[in-house]
Amino acid sequence: MQKLLVANRGEIALRIMKTAQKMGIQTVAVYSEADRNAPFVLFADEAYLLGPPPSNQSYLLGDKIIDIALKAGVDGIHPGYGFLSENAIFAQAVTDAGIKFVGPSPHAMRIMGSKLAAKEAVKGYDIPMVPGTDTAVTDIAEAKQLADEMGYPILIKASAGGGGKGMRIVEQPDDFVPMMERAQSEAKASFGDDAVFVEKYIVSPKHIEIQVLADKKGHTVHLFERDCSVQRRHQKVVEEAPSAILTPDLRRRMGKAAINVAKACQYEGAGTVEFLVDKDRNFYFLEMNTRLQVEHPVTEMITGLDLVEQQIKIADGHDLDFAQADLKINGHAFELRVYAEDSMNNFLPSTGTLTTYQRPEGEGVRVDDGFREGMEIPIYYDPMISKLAVWAPTRQAAAKKMLQAIHDYKIKGIETTLPFGKFVFRHPAFLSGDFTTNFVNQYFTPEQIEQQNEKAASVAAKMGLYLYLEEKRKLKV
Ligand code: ADP
Ligand code: ADP
Ligand code: MG
Repeated sequence: MQKLLVANRGEIALRIMKTAQKMGIQTVAVYSEADRNAPFVLFADEAYLLGPPPSNQSYLLGDKIIDIALKAGVDGIHPGYGFLSENAIFAQAVTDAGIKFVGPSPHAMRIMGSKLAAKEAVKGYDIPMVPGTDTAVTDIAEAKQLADEMGYPILIKASAGGGGKGMRIVEQPDDFVPMMERAQSEAKASFGDDAVFVEKYIVSPKHIEIQVLADKKGHTVHLFERDCSVQRRHQKVVEEAPSAILTPDLRRRMGKAAINVAKACQYEGAGTVEFLVDKDRNFYFLEMNTRLQVEHPVTEMITGLDLVEQQIKIADGHDLDFAQADLKINGHAFELRVYAEDSMNNFLPSTGTLTTYQRPEGEGVRVDDGFREGMEIPIYYDPMISKLAVWAPTRQAAAKKMLQAIHDYKIKGIETTLPFGKFVFRHPAFLSGDFTTNFVNQYFTPEQIEQQNEKAASVAAKMGLYLYLEEKRKLKV
């Protein structure tokens, strides 16, 4: 690989280019009008304008991106996450143009891109699955009967869903039919596919996923787990590796299951197999994400591997140069997704300009970002500003380091999830490891952050009064 085009934007485009540069590979950026001055555009060796800001006029224009790739003479295209990263048609077109797609085969993407096809594919591999329908619901009455038998709550899911979208919890039998009708029309509108299915809703699970790596010869290893249970709207905000609750035995069994899922679709490259773990430590296969995951830094921090480097090498035809037995977990890592969102106001997107933007620094602190002070957060894309990750030898020390890093991270002009992060990393349930995907609903109210702020304000006020009295005393003397 001599030259790589990154078909993405923001922090992940920059992060991928940094590894490419380290490997001596030339980098090519493609960008929308909203990203003209973005760091990833300035960093790239070459940059090409795609079009106006909306994704469907820029970052989703697969054919245009391939044209640019051909003109620029690149050997590979890295799709990042989101946008075209899980689009099998794009992956096929890239390959057909004689360019290496840094990711799995279109075949694997097609299977795993549909939650139903994924369940079907892994059937023969002894993978525990959430009870539910294994084909798209066509007969609503029949599906309701199954739901009644399984017992409520149940979950209606869009087969093509992603990013936490396309899910509905049904609490009681009377709601089933109207919810199902709504879910189908929503799935059609959002994903262009009205296939929905029914799953038992696992109450208070942990979301634990396994990172896998596979080369073109089928050597497949897992890089342990990430616990991503702190979520809002079924989407992750805080992640960690390793999980606080996995025993070596459960880790080994989940790792083996994940490798089997990868084998079920002849997986190549880096991928993630997601599971739910219930209170009795049973695990269930959820889905496989056929791309680099947002939260991959925590895995890099505990394994010492660069996942983008591994992806590029695999796409370039190299075999893995280590075996499962060579991999060890070293220390503990946390990641906080810093979103331009108002955690005081239901995590609604917050827009504006980064009037102050100062990153935390220090050993074991990593910030993956794509903005600089003075820049505006575009409204057209995912509102993530950065990912703040920390590493320390123990979980406790890592949590402490995260609080310090949050404190040192100065962002003004926009609301962010930093205050929420502070709440999480101080919370006894989180610190004990005893928390589930219900964490936010169970414990979080905006008042909690307000109370934290008030405490800080009251300390500041007392300090002020003290200094004033000191000053007055000195004057009297
Ligand atoms: P991860 O599984 O890596 O934690 P997310 O679920 O947060 O990632 O999604 C990664 C990115 O992809 C986000 O930018 C998210 O908005 C986007 N995304 C993923 N799937 C979809 C989808 N089906 N529709 C819209 N956006 C999606
Ligand atoms: P997406 O493609 O949107 O990432 P997933 O199937 O990975 O969809 O589910 C996202 C999140 O939704 C999970 O991490 C979990 O919190 C919740 N979830 C999904 N399925 C279930 C289920 N059957 N029971 C309980 N929670 C679930
Ligand atoms: Mg998922």
